[in-house]
Amino acid sequence: MVTATRIQAPEVTETRLLINGEWCDADSGKTFACINPATGDTIAQIAEGDAADVDRAVKSARKAFETGPWSKMSARDRGNLLLKLADLIGEHAEELAALETLDNGKPITEALNADIPMVQAAYRYYGGWADKIYGDTIPVDRAMGNFFCYTKREPVGVCGQIIPWNFPLLMMAWKWGPALACGNTVILKPAEQTPLGALRVGALAMEAGFPPGVINIVNGFGETAGDALVKHPDVDKIAFTGEYKTAQIIMANAAPTLKRLTFELGGKSPNVVFADADLDQAAQGAMAGIFFNQGEVCCAGSRLFVEQSIHDEFVDRFKTLAEQRRLGDPFDPQTEQGAQVSEEQFDKVMKYIDIGKNEDKATCVTGGERFGDKGFFVKPTIFTGVNNQMRIARDEIFGPVVSVLPFSDFDSLVSDANDTQYGLASAVWTKDITKAHAFADAVKAGTVWVNCYNTFDIAAPFGGYKFSGHGRECGRNVLDHYTETKTVWINLGER
Ligand code: ADP
Repeated sequence: MVTATRIQAPEVTETRLLINGEWCDADSGKTFACINPATGDTIAQIAEGDAADVDRAVKSARKAFETGPWSKMSARDRGNLLLKLADLIGEHAEELAALETLDNGKPITEALNADIPMVQAAYRYYGGWADKIYGDTIPVDRAMGNFFCYTKREPVGVCGQIIPWNFPLLMMAWKWGPALACGNTVILKPAEQTPLGALRVGALAMEAGFPPGVINIVNGFGETAGDALVKHPDVDKIAFTGEYKTAQIIMANAAPTLKRLTFELGGKSPNVVFADADLDQAAQGAMAGIFFNQGEVCCAGSRLFVEQSIHDEFVDRFKTLAEQRRLGDPFDPQTEQGAQVSEEQFDKVMKYIDIGKNEDKATCVTGGERFGDKGFFVKPTIFTGVNNQMRIARDEIFGPVVSVLPFSDFDSLVSDANDTQYGLASAVWTKDITKAHAFADAVKAGTVWVNCYNTFDIAAPFGGYKFSGHGRECGRNVLDHYTETKTVWINLGER
């Protein structure tokens, strides 16, 4: 782990759109303010792209895909470009971590030790995949004749990629890595709250040598730039990470052009502590499960199911840990919890805290209020006395707010754990391997963690059941979403 000697907020060098290998202003000339969530101050004015800019980016991505050097480049060379980008990210790790902290409000120690290494690993991993994506030879029925049948894996084409603000560079890497490894061209629409890191990585990608038009970045708002990307007739696929309500709009808007869609959406993940668990480990896991990244994690363990017989003792331990958590300046290397990403998000979290206290009438055992008097900080908040019907147990809050739900038997636990529209992740803490497997089998979620939480690896598939998504990112699985399979039949004739 790198313990940062204090890293300063970096200079912001890229604020424009990246289209066809060039930095440019929006056609409209419009800009929007990028805000530091730890202070509320404006960091920079960012070019605000809309439909006209998206159209330019799509044209450049189409040209690069069909006729540019990229279209003729060997898979290995594509992989080498991704590896070069990974190297450049390593060389600029501190600067990129600082941009994430400045833009998102996350602690510098986490940006440096979690985000950036995972970003680099993602580009490396997919750089390695580029020349290992190929088809099969199929033993078709000889009775039909003498055929040689094989499949090819071809890129889908021009991919629109719309990402959120919680792990800006990682979400970008999860999308650029596989798309580029497969030979697609991309147009990235960063979240309006956090464009800075993506723009810097865009510059590094140009330095790595990606040809013009292969990577494009159009900053702007969802309802304008994002919407234009989704509706554009010459975009073949949309990969989206964000709220399910946005995914529903995207799905409807993508229907007329029948785009390929993959979604990574929200969650209300059950984190289950059995009485036989190592309670110290489980309490740490409950903390990591909900408070990591200010609770702005799609797979946050926001419903903490605790076996009745240990409920009070466990809540005591958990509360003590939550109250020890160090909040404050995200650039302070000691800080464990930074600011929520925006005023809007801060207001949403505070609204849910109010609902928990006054509408659901749950018990707020710690937190439940703002931290400090500037920026968008929320104290780690624990509600007890929660049942699964309450709004704080049903709605995704996307902040440092956890609902503790007691349980006393396995079947009702499973039924409650699955009684949610979401199905992204889950965890179980127990020393009983049989119980752990039984839960892993029964829970409807894309990831199950046993005696751990928030372990990620770019090689391990990630995604959700139900309203938590379509398809899987990471690992080998995502490559299917960025390729078409072409089946070729050759009549060899009879000899
Ligand atoms: P959040 O509410 O947490 O910001 P969103 O789902 O609204 O989550 O945002 C995730 C990403 O989706 C952002 O880049 C945002 O700009 C984009 N987005 C929002 N609305 C739309 C839309 N109607 N069409 C396309 N993209 C959108």
